[in-house]
Amino acid sequence: MAKHKTHFEDCDVLVVGGGMAGTGATFEARHWGRDLKIICVEKANIDRSGAVAQGLYAINCYMGMQWGENQPEDHVRYARNDLMGMVREDLGYDMARHVDSTVHMFDEWGLPMMKNEKTGRYLREGKWQIMIHGESYKPIVAEAAKKSADKIYNRIMITHLLMDETKENRVGGAVGFNMRTGDYYVFRAKTVIVAAGGASHIFKPRAVGEGMGRTWYAPWSNGSAYALPIAVGAKMTQMENRIVLCRFKDGYGPVGAYFLHLKTYTQNANGENYEKKWYDHTKEMVGEYIDHHPTPTCLRNHAFIQETMAGGGPIQMVTTEAFQDPHLETVGWENFLGMTVGQAVVWASQNIDPKYTNPELTTSEPYVMGSHATCSGAWVSGPEDLSPPEYFWGYNRMLTVEGLFGAGDTVGGSAHKFSSGSFTEGRLAAKAAVKYIEDQKAKDIKVSDKQCEGFKDIIYKPLETYTVARNEITGGTVSPSYISPIQGLQRLQRIMDEYVGGIATNYMTNENMLKRALELLEWLQEDLEKVGAEDYHQLMRAWELKHRTLTSQCVTEHTMFRKETRWPGYYYRGDHLKLDDENWHCLTVSRRDPKTGKFTLEKVPVYHIVDEKEKKKAS
Ligand SMILES: Cc1cc2nc3c(=O)[nH]c(=O)nc-3n(C[C@H](O)[C@H](O)[C@H](O)COP(=O)(O)OP(=O)(O)OC[C@H]3O[C@@H](n4cnc5c(N)ncnc54)[C@H](O)[C@@H]3O)c2cc1C
Repeated sequence: MAKHKTHFEDCDVLVVGGGMAGTGATFEARHWGRDLKIICVEKANIDRSGAVAQGLYAINCYMGMQWGENQPEDHVRYARNDLMGMVREDLGYDMARHVDSTVHMFDEWGLPMMKNEKTGRYLREGKWQIMIHGESYKPIVAEAAKKSADKIYNRIMITHLLMDETKENRVGGAVGFNMRTGDYYVFRAKTVIVAAGGASHIFKPRAVGEGMGRTWYAPWSNGSAYALPIAVGAKMTQMENRIVLCRFKDGYGPVGAYFLHLKTYTQNANGENYEKKWYDHTKEMVGEYIDHHPTPTCLRNHAFIQETMAGGGPIQMVTTEAFQDPHLETVGWENFLGMTVGQAVVWASQNIDPKYTNPELTTSEPYVMGSHATCSGAWVSGPEDLSPPEYFWGYNRMLTVEGLFGAGDTVGGSAHKFSSGSFTEGRLAAKAAVKYIEDQKAKDIKVSDKQCEGFKDIIYKPLETYTVARNEITGGTVSPSYISPIQGLQRLQRIMDEYVGGIATNYMTNENMLKRALELLEWLQEDLEKVGAEDYHQLMRAWELKHRTLTSQCVTEHTMFRKETRWPGYYYRGDHLKLDDENWHCLTVSRRDPKTGKFTLEKVPVYHIVDEKEKKKAS
């Protein structure tokens, strides 16, 4: 290991991941902690990293409180409805009451916002979305973080959290390696804010072979946001609540602007409105939830999946009407050019001009994330003024490990934050982290050289494994004594796909399949001790795989625990094919014991805080 130089950095606030939440956290940490040392560590390059790397066409979460458009309560009701009741309303409300101020800063920083010519307000795409020319969204927020941090480290993958050796269950920093130089980095920190994005590629994607890597969700989001806290025993919530997206086929181009702004609609291959056909069937499964407005996203997926299984596919988006209007046609194309160029290329390659041909839609493989339309992630403390006792333990957005905070995809129970809400949540977490330091909660943290050296051996082991095992390669990449990261990834994806509700089974699973998945995942974990890496890039792939596998174990445990089908269209429990409010109107919370690797799960009450408040006011 001597050839890998070790760098030590001591700081007050360490932000892991410089995406939307990480840039928000870095910016806000400086606001409250003028004299603190603030470091942000990013796996890629902060200017173009994370899910917003390529840009966005809409900011999906803006209340518009200055114009009385929406109030935070409205957003809580919206998210609650979309998630079939299962959200942390304290977290959602807290984000919503602050998100407008974030968007106003983006505007000041030069993000080109579209304006409604008549009203002068931000141009609405939908009730919550406002439209932007967002190709440079990420560089703009990155600049704010760069000006705020003492240092931004790019190209460093954080692999493990460090723990304090004087006080149990208190964080002490993080370690990782530089993927270009191979150097080892130790960040000893008083607080750590994990903002490392969600998890793609844990389920087998539709695109394999020559198209591998083409997914809706950023392929570089590898679940570090979950694996890092899970590994140190932090509690997680709603990890069963994976997301499946209805998107344009093959290019995964977004449909939001099409539905909301262009007013396009879907039909089956016979030109019928298929959603209506599945009303009674869905009502039988979920009861009155199907009558809610807007229809919860998962239930719209459900109709799509049922219709396809019944032979009504391909499902199409009717664009040929809207595209006759030259303005809408331009918006339709620009929507992709600002964030999903690939969809325009796919259509060109398939000879599809949406003015004359209605393009096909598809449902994606599942992903795990906490900021979009689902809410998998860490179990965190809420804000003091809103949270009931079960949801509050001192510092906003602090996990169940002291000094460890989260934001964006990391945080569970609070869906529909999107880019602006994730940045906002980063700000909230950073403010609380600074307060934690000011309250002297991070005093006398000890992280020994032994702990740091121990991780160094572990991190570089795949390089050692390869160096030895390559001598036994029998041909190509075939070797009896190591597996490559891609082989491990494909094995993981297949387990998740076939047993945990991926596309292979039309999102269907059951207890027996999940039990089998857990066995197979455990054996995969064992074999990952033998993962080999031939260079630093492959070393990153090896660690991405390990993080994905740990995340997958947690997802599988949660899916097994919730004995109902709460979100048909995201996944189905074939042995409990109905929504069961009597027994499962609750949040699920897990903890993995870092010593034994065993998970324990519990039910935690879901409090409908917003309407309780209203009821109290009325009485
Ligand atoms: C395809 C897609 C389309 C979307 N469209 C919209 C939209 O139109 N409007 C909207 O408002 N929102 C949209 N969103 C949502 C928005 O992008 C996310 O809510 C937001 O990016 C989440 O912020 P985050 O910081 O949690 O994750 P990210 O922004 O993804 O950032 C995570 C960061 O962590 C880094 N990282 C990961 N692992 C490590 C590690 N181990 N060590 C160091 N760094 C690490 C990553 O490189 C990345 O920079 C979309 C999301 C997706 C995936």
